Amino acid sequence: MSANTIRKAKKLVESEGVAKIDDELYQVKSSTDPSKSYMVEKDSCDCLGFKNFYKFHHGKGLKANCSHIEAVRIFKKE
Ligand SMILES: [Zn+2]
Repeated sequence: MSANTIRKAKKLVESEGVAKIDDELYQVKSSTDPSKSYMVEKDSCDCLGFKNFYKFHHGKGLKANCSHIEAVRIFKKE
């Protein structure tokens, strides 16, 4: 995972861009457009970056990640 992803994720948590909806469901604001938000459920996110990850790395056994999923991880630890 890139340092940039972690930096973005930390910023989202610090700016209170993460909201808990349910135990495994979180709403995370977009770091580029605050009027947008994404739903993160367990290890899955509905943002374009997450969807594209599987498009580009299909079948390689890699786990997709994005700043929203990482933001939820940081949020849960705090
Ligand atoms: Zn995402």
